[in-house]
Amino acid sequence: MQKKSLQCPQCGSELPLYFKYSKMITCPYCKSTIFLEDDAVKLAGIESVINDEPSLLHIYKAFEYEGDIYRPIGRLQYRVDRYLWDEWWVVGNDGEAFWLSVDDGDYIAEKEIPFELELDSYDSVELGDRVSSWIVTEKGEGILEAFEGELPEVPKIGEKHHYIHLSDNDGTMLTAEFYDGQKSLYMGKWIDPFEIREILK
Ligand SMILES: [Zn+2]
Repeated sequence: MQKKSLQCPQCGSELPLYFKYSKMITCPYCKSTIFLEDDAVKLAGIESVINDEPSLLHIYKAFEYEGDIYRPIGRLQYRVDRYLWDEWWVVGNDGEAFWLSVDDGDYIAEKEIPFELELDSYDSVELGDRVSSWIVTEKGEGILEAFEGELPEVPKIGEKHHYIHLSDNDGTMLTAEFYDGQKSLYMGKWIDPFEIREILK
């Protein structure tokens, strides 16, 4: 699954790269953050410390789910009230990547989709409202506190993300995110954490 690697410009360690569209990677040895854009490798000078609570998932440790192999290669860590919320960036054997959101024991695999939903702003709906066939089940605000690994976008520490969860009847869910004047929409499905098997090497 590993595509290539690069040498950390700070400490010289060899860093594996797993996803071809990554824009940033953190060095697990010296904690430097490195921009990967435009084929140039340069130090980003951002420091970030993940709060490593007990977790089923571990950075770079592959796991099996329903017969397929996946590897968490990056993580964003948000603070929502007093809790930490991890968004793992996970790549499969097919080279495709998705977000695996872990919120208080709930695991949701999410992929970004075009924002084709009549939802203009965070404040335009309340809990229980309907948006076409979807029902608003949760609203909240998270602040990006930390990140690690390989990521498809350059994270902004301290950035506030407002999110809205919407559910329908067949177990699919949507997450709308509003941040920094932008909005994104993700479609997700529940993952059964008891089916996540660590691969021992
Ligand atoms: Zn390094």
